[in-house]
Amino acid sequence: MKEDKYLREIEIVCPVCGSSSFEVNAAVDGLVEMTKCASCGREATKDELLRDSSENVAEHVKEMGSEILKDTVAEMRASMRKALSGSKYIKFR
Ligand SMILES: [Zn+2]
Repeated sequence: MKEDKYLREIEIVCPVCGSSSFEVNAAVDGLVEMTKCASCGREATKDELLRDSSENVAEHVKEMGSEILKDTVAEMRASMRKALSGSKYIKFR
């Protein structure tokens, strides 16, 4: 269920029919997951599917990347402020 949501979030589409609904089945070792297109039945590992949809994924990562960057910058500023106020506090002590 979680995997299904994941696939939807990154907008993977079937390279054969363009459907975005997949069945995901975890393999025995739990590492490689097989996906099956709910529309045309094309089977591929999740990795293959990700590669096939690389254009979509790249777009998504780009979006996510800027979000993460924003968060990271904000976090860095916050921790720098914290560090600075901390050293001031120590200085004035
Ligand atoms: Zn398909």
